[in-house]
Amino acid sequence: MRGRISIKLKMTLWVAAFMILTAGLCLGLVLMISGRVARREAVSVLTITAREQVSGVSLADGQLILDEDFSFYKNDVYFLLYNKNQALLAGQTPPGFSVSTPFENGVTRLAEGEDGNFYVFDLWIPSGWEDGTWLRGVMRAADGGQTEHQILAIFSLIMPVVILTAALGGYLIARRALRPIEQITMAAESISGGKDLSRRIGLRRGKDEVGRLAAAFDQMFERLEQSFEAEKQFASDASHELRTPTAVIVAQCSYLEKYAQQPEDYKEGVAVIHRQADKMTQLINQLLDMTRLDFGTRKLNLEEIDFSAFLTAVCEEEDTGERGISISMDIPGGIRANVDESLFSRVIHNLMENARKYGKEGGWIRVSLSCGEKTVILKVEDNGIGIDEAHLNKIWQRFYQVSTSRESGAGLGLGLSMVRQIVHLHGGEVSAESRPGEGSMFTVILPKPGA
Ligand code: ADP
Repeated sequence: MRGRISIKLKMTLWVAAFMILTAGLCLGLVLMISGRVARREAVSVLTITAREQVSGVSLADGQLILDEDFSFYKNDVYFLLYNKNQALLAGQTPPGFSVSTPFENGVTRLAEGEDGNFYVFDLWIPSGWEDGTWLRGVMRAADGGQTEHQILAIFSLIMPVVILTAALGGYLIARRALRPIEQITMAAESISGGKDLSRRIGLRRGKDEVGRLAAAFDQMFERLEQSFEAEKQFASDASHELRTPTAVIVAQCSYLEKYAQQPEDYKEGVAVIHRQADKMTQLINQLLDMTRLDFGTRKLNLEEIDFSAFLTAVCEEEDTGERGISISMDIPGGIRANVDESLFSRVIHNLMENARKYGKEGGWIRVSLSCGEKTVILKVEDNGIGIDEAHLNKIWQRFYQVSTSRESGAGLGLGLSMVRQIVHLHGGEVSAESRPGEGSMFTVILPKPGA
């Protein structure tokens, strides 16, 4: 049931319920105040009128004398006169009033009658030494019914209008506020239903909650599209890269079946197949590693280590190859960093392997380490063939290779993309500077531990 009511209806019902509650409270308050005011007014009319009447009553020789302006019924007050023994001298008891109500001089009080309550106010009017008259004012205590009925009638006329207006207002506000959400839902549905990843919500709204939600959704769709495109590109590149060695193996097998006769022919053919199979294994392993890092199945094992010692050890293990390339190191001791050793040795290895692969005969590689205020900076430089400006931004893409000829043999176009992936996982940045024909410099910046 809960989920079936739309938010719009819920908001409308809430506003209406709130209005009904507020109106109920107001009504209660108005009735209470109006009752009190009416009571206070009645009491003051009773006492004032009674005090005015006093001057019109006198007693001479036991005879009651009333002025002309004395009236037994004035301002809704009945007046009764009693002698000192509380026997009625003049006036008519109002119907329903109990005659046995005790006397109390100058005090207004409520007395219960047969068919309702009465306010009673007595005044003792002395005469001579010991004689006097009791003036009793009696007023029917209004049950407030009339005023209350009037108030209730006004409320019952106004309230439905107010509640309906509030509910309608609530509904319109809710509809307006929720319209962008409907847009978001429609965009999300069309993306998931029609697989149109390029669609965006495109709400041109300010910085309110819904505007931010729409912007966050658009960002999410953007990233979804990007990663979907990247996946597609990756799958097509991977299959393309695997096709080359597979095609060579198939061609080599056909050749051997048709033409090979001597054991040397077979040996040669098997060596070609072996090389291609090695390349495939290398490719598959690298793809697997990258996928594991992408999907987080290979967790980072970060540890604060003596990075200077680690870098020196990894560089010393590097093979300079047969091209007479020398490696020099400028690594000051004691620089520490938070790294996953086995992953980071891949970063150093890939950068140095590239420097060697794309270096000149008899060239050099320089590895240097330094410390910024909050960073640890590693540089791998070479004086090799360099990279043209046009390619510099693209070398980080998977399978991107500046030269598509496979003369150098070993390249897969995955080394730098893995370098960047691992450095990013360490919270760092990597960049390249290069001059074609002069050499290249790769810079890795890592956050300093505790910085
Ligand atoms: P590859 O397996 O081809 O080396 P990488 O991703 O490691 O793949 O590098 C991508 C491309 O960047 C290489 O094909 C190469 O053209 C260029 N490159 C990388 N490092 C260097 C370097 N030190 N000197 C010149 N070119 C480089």
